[in-house]
Amino acid sequence: ADPLTKDNINKALKTAFDKYKGLQEGKNADYIPALAKVDSSIYGIALITTDGKVYTVGDIKSEVSIQSISKVFTLAMVMDQSGTRAIFDNMGVDATGQVFNSIVAIEQYQGAEMNPLVNAGAITTTSLVDGKTYDEIWGKIEKKYNEFAGRDLKVLDDVYQSEAETNQRNRAIAWLMSAYGHIKTDPLRATDIYTRQCSVGVNAKDLAMMAATLANAGKNPVTGKQVTKAENVPEVLAVMATAGLYDDAGKWLYKTGLPAKSGVGGGLIAVSPGKFGIAVISPPLDVAGNSVRAQNAIADISNALGGNPYDVS
Ligand code: GLU
Repeated sequence: ADPLTKDNINKALKTAFDKYKGLQEGKNADYIPALAKVDSSIYGIALITTDGKVYTVGDIKSEVSIQSISKVFTLAMVMDQSGTRAIFDNMGVDATGQVFNSIVAIEQYQGAEMNPLVNAGAITTTSLVDGKTYDEIWGKIEKKYNEFAGRDLKVLDDVYQSEAETNQRNRAIAWLMSAYGHIKTDPLRATDIYTRQCSVGVNAKDLAMMAATLANAGKNPVTGKQVTKAENVPEVLAVMATAGLYDDAGKWLYKTGLPAKSGVGGGLIAVSPGKFGIAVISPPLDVAGNSVRAQNAIADISNALGGNPYDVS
């Protein structure tokens, strides 16, 4: 029998929500000062099937900054524009074995063995978006995110300002990627656009819609719009599987089999190809930088609903 029935999904969501509601582990990211001030009790779950049915529990109104989850959608956009080879050839697609904002990982292979989901690769990916001016490039990114989410998203200005004032390390990363020839435009402009894309506000339903669009071969299952090329989605998902949860990407894949991406704002998305996209927002993070409640809830829900693509039993 198909486990993806309305009753099963609602039950799985509610069970996981209740089970982890009292879990008090982890803490908000604070290296970006504005993130430390976000309400730690925000907790919402949304699952959207590839036939466009929306299931939610908890807080799906509160917005947090999308942060690193944005990297996935700029990646999809650049693949559409320039082909998957452009990413492969420029920055690579392997896990670096280092933290997401590592300088050592850049130095080891002069920036050629990164991936688009760590900062060096992500800022480089943003630098690859075609456009003459800052506004033209930003406009394209904004439009693409809106199409993934199925509504108009807005930058959270306090988060943007806070990170723009404290992102010296990302600027250094961009200059190194420029020095090694990976970033061919103004590295500080690329860093600033990247910082802005990380500050886009999303609720749990927005994130689930973005994930469901990937689960549905690049077509938003609610608006019906083909947002990104179907042929590139497998590569996007492969990079998520490899490097979506910082240093715990392997542990996550072992438990769930799901391509996923987390952000330091407390969001986590996961994709069950052909079946559903799911997202949880809960700001407290573990030491690896992944939302504690989100990881637990998504793993339980997906496993209850047969979401693991490697499990055909
Ligand atoms: N804007 C954040 C940074 O570059 C994103 C980090 C993340 O979510 O992993 O530090």
